[in-house]
Amino acid sequence: MLFDDFYFKSLIRTIEDWPKPGISFRDITPIFSNPKGMRMVVDAYVHRYIDSDITHIACIDARGFLIASVLAYELRKPLVLVRKKGKLPGKTISQSYDLEYGSAELEIQEGAVEAGAQVLLFDDLIATGGTLVAAMSLLKQQGANIKEVAAIIDLPDLGGSAKIQEMDIPVFALCAFE
Ligand code: AMP
Repeated sequence: MLFDDFYFKSLIRTIEDWPKPGISFRDITPIFSNPKGMRMVVDAYVHRYIDSDITHIACIDARGFLIASVLAYELRKPLVLVRKKGKLPGKTISQSYDLEYGSAELEIQEGAVEAGAQVLLFDDLIATGGTLVAAMSLLKQQGANIKEVAAIIDLPDLGGSAKIQEMDIPVFALCAFE
């Protein structure tokens, strides 16, 4: 079996009230300490994208990097890093976005992706979708086309995946927590 949903979900640890009261934090670190779990995740994405016409994989700081870099290696695609403000050297373009309380900013390096690139955008989890929409805006400003957004976990009740799909961008997540 390529993907055992029940086993897979057992590798995601829920920590209540972290980092703030009321948040159920979905902790993916057990996936990385379990070689079978890690292989399941990477294999699922390789299976989905091996024959696709994506040209680049973009990923979001920092947990998005962990799987996307292995996937880029497996699929032999260039990896584009979307980072939190102040982490990337050289000329960057930035995009701020709203968080539940306050705001944050993402950056990519100028020229990180060429116009016409067909990008798979990856993050660990989709909640409100604010982070992914900001990353999509940075990639589009450089002329890239977002082919699909992929994540390990979707939290559909928070509306992010629906918001991205309404922009006519397909969303693929390995599991969802209602
Ligand atoms: P959002 O922009 O609201 O979609 O939030 C997505 C980003 O915040 C992802 O990069 C996640 O790593 C992180 N995040 C948001 N909510 C959670 C949660 N409940 N558990 C783990 N990470 C979360």
